[in-house]
Amino acid sequence: MPILKTIILRLIFNLGIFSFFHYIHRKKITILYAHSIVKSSDINSSLWQPLRTQHNTDELTFTLSTLSKRYQFISLSTAIKILKKEIKPINNALVITLDDGYLNNIKASGPIFSKFNIHPAIFVSSEHTEKNIPFWFDRLDYALQQIKEDGFSTQILGESFMFDCTSRKRLTTSYSDFRRRIKLQFNDDQIMRNYLDTLSTSIEMHTGKALKDVINDDIYAQIASWKELKSATERFNFEIGSHTINHARIGLLNENDIDIELSHSKRTIEYKLQLACNTFCYPDNSYKDTAETLVKKYYQCALTTDPGLNKVGDNMIQFKRMNLPTGTNQYKILYKISALKLSLQNTILG
Ligand SMILES: [Zn+2]
Repeated sequence: MPILKTIILRLIFNLGIFSFFHYIHRKKITILYAHSIVKSSDINSSLWQPLRTQHNTDELTFTLSTLSKRYQFISLSTAIKILKKEIKPINNALVITLDDGYLNNIKASGPIFSKFNIHPAIFVSSEHTEKNIPFWFDRLDYALQQIKEDGFSTQILGESFMFDCTSRKRLTTSYSDFRRRIKLQFNDDQIMRNYLDTLSTSIEMHTGKALKDVINDDIYAQIASWKELKSATERFNFEIGSHTINHARIGLLNENDIDIELSHSKRTIEYKLQLACNTFCYPDNSYKDTAETLVKKYYQCALTTDPGLNKVGDNMIQFKRMNLPTGTNQYKILYKISALKLSLQNTILG
């Protein structure tokens, strides 16, 4: 099957099908996102390896080099101007965005972006930036890997859940099931965050180890400080957007709390970095009608992780994005984010 897939992919490119779709959709803007991107040479010496898959700089370099042959890299602010019809469209334009504000985005990846003349937009959660607080998904990941016993049980809103710690593979599956379960079960973001804090604290007390104690040396989870962000805007032309105060899923908050998450994070970023913050990215792709109306009050645009391309006339606070594709096969990388793949998916899904 993989061989058949590779042959089909080759044909798609050799027969010009990819190029045809790429040309037809050339006025649309592709926006990609990534989270933590660690320096490949640092991986082996790291104290731990997260269970969730991470990007690394070798993959980043190969992907950007592949994309640079078919796309023109533009900044998010240029994309906004094009989509608002303030400037002429740029053919096959592509924007890189980075979620959460990890330090490795600047330290390890900044020089690589710069080499390709890419000015990424980085979305930060102001409280995490301010205090270098690890995100719950990194904190819990680290905590779970310190457990020496075969399992750890918890109650998710009264329902039992057991983390299987017998092997890394089983823990990876278990952690992924857990994340799916909590997203389905909690319909209030504040209650979910409180629950996750209590759970992580109890595991940390049990094992005596916590990510916050080592975060300043951690290549995966360390958050960029205001100073490092400011320097990224000056050295590498990074643009800075808001990702709320607390990485809150604003679709699951009341109006007052949404307003606070949106307005305070914007104000803090503007005050700390002395620049305008007009762009927003929904943590966990959580948005709903009320949230959208409020987002419009503070921001020019907002980004989802709904897959697709962006064109003039689209809803400015529901920009579509796709995950930065990686791998060693350039055809696969190009196909993963292509107009052709999206068109096929739309046809199949109706
Ligand atoms: Zn995020």
